[in-house]
Amino acid sequence: MTRAEDIYTPPPSRPADAWRLVPPAERVVRWYEEMAQRRLPRPTGTVLGVRLYAQINHGRWVAGCPECNSAQIVTPDDPRMYCVECLSGWFVVVFPTDTAAAEATVERQPVREQNWWNPDDDTAWNRPPPEQPPEREPTRSPLPADDGRQR
Ligand SMILES: [Zn+2]
Repeated sequence: MTRAEDIYTPPPSRPADAWRLVPPAERVVRWYEEMAQRRLPRPTGTVLGVRLYAQINHGRWVAGCPECNSAQIVTPDDPRMYCVECLSGWFVVVFPTDTAAAEATVERQPVREQNWWNPDDDTAWNRPPPEQPPEREPTRSPLPADDGRQR
C-alpha cells in the first residue's frame, strides 16, 4: 500500500534521499512547499481530543482532515497528520495494530477496490453501509387466503 514516504518525495531536481532525515509525516509539508513555492507554518504540539482513523483508499493509506475535509496520504511509521490545506495542526492518526493484516484483506483486489476502514471508524463519509442480510421472500401459502367467509 502506498504510504506518505512513497508519494511525498523530493522533486526530480533534488537528490532522491534529500528528505531522508525528515520524519515521514512531515514530508507532505516539504512536498506542498515545493509545489506551492511558499513556506508553511510549522505548528508544534497536537490537536487535543481528536483522533483520525486511517483508511485504505484505492491502495493508499489516507486520513481525512476533520476541519476542511481534505485528505492526504499518511503512514503507520509516523502516525500523525498536519493538514497542509487548512493548517489546522497535528492530529493523531489511528492505524490498526496489525497494518499488514488490514493490507492483506485488500491487496489482491484491483487498486480501485483496495479500500479498508477501521472497524471502530463510524465517521468515514465514504464507508459503505454494513451489509444487510438478504430479504426473505414472503412465504406464500399454497392455500387461498382465508377471508373468513363461509363457503
Ligand atoms: Zn484541513
